[in-house]
Amino acid sequence: MKCKFCKEQARIKLRSYNLRLCENCFQDFFKKRVRLTIEKFKMHSSGDKILIAVSGGKDSLCLWHVLDDIGYKTQGLHIDLGIAGYSEKSKEYVLKFARDNNFNLKIIDVKEELGAGVRELSRIAGRVSCGVCGMLRRYIMNREAEGFNCLATGHTLDDEASTLFGNLLNWQEGFLRRQSPVLKANESLKKKIKPFCLVSEEEISFYAFICNIGYISENCPLSKNATSLFYKHILDEVEEKMPAAKLKFYKQFIKKGYFKGTIEEKLMPCRICGYLTVSGVCSFCRLKEKLNEARV
Ligand code: AMP
Ligand code: ZN
Repeated sequence: MKCKFCKEQARIKLRSYNLRLCENCFQDFFKKRVRLTIEKFKMHSSGDKILIAVSGGKDSLCLWHVLDDIGYKTQGLHIDLGIAGYSEKSKEYVLKFARDNNFNLKIIDVKEELGAGVRELSRIAGRVSCGVCGMLRRYIMNREAEGFNCLATGHTLDDEASTLFGNLLNWQEGFLRRQSPVLKANESLKKKIKPFCLVSEEEISFYAFICNIGYISENCPLSKNATSLFYKHILDEVEEKMPAAKLKFYKQFIKKGYFKGTIEEKLMPCRICGYLTVSGVCSFCRLKEKLNEARV
């Protein structure tokens, strides 16, 4: 099995592209596609720093690695969600990665800021933990992105395709708009970009392996039954029978511009912090109010 480009021994077979590549050619191919994704969707063109949200998982750590490698100025942001047995480990991987590469990292500790971790916060809020966790992450990432041109997350093709699948299955048209590779800034939201939206987790795993990037491989203990994992599993089976199915599914969605004309939610600034929200007070400030009530 020879590499398609240099004829050395191939090490990976990319079924979606019908390509066999050696390690070096794979790295070039991978980096080039990330760079082209950034350019194609006009994600970032200035020399400003990109803030990268890093969880400690392979996707966001590899994203940080690639973006730096292809010449972007970066800064990392990690949110310690205070999930016992999981957050400590995740943070260690992020710290090690930043230290080894001499990268700038900021850590926000949810327990320090709100007095409790995600598990307890969701109990107090009376909401499922994934919902509270997602809300907290979105709010904190956006707040910390102040002063940056954009915020990058490690969302992959697998993430985007499975979210799209779920949104279509339930006809959540309002959510389709958020599936664009670039979410434009508005009065209270910073620009968000997903430079990995066209690369698969299989490719990212191989990149992590070649570049010797250590990461937390287990899933969050609170997301064991998350429907998103189920949707991913279904799409993996589809991909197995029909290589490139995920890529076609997501690319066609973008090409046809389905995320553009969907129903806009009516948003207004939160009475307390100014973050745009559907109701008078945003979810983050409401959670803080509940915490205060629970403490008196
Ligand atoms: P997930 O929703 O867990 O698949 O995460 C999607 C993306 O959100 C990751 O690729 C990261 O960019 C970002 N992210 C998730 N968790 C954290 C965290 N604890 N701190 C910083 N960024 C995170
Ligand atoms: Zn608020």
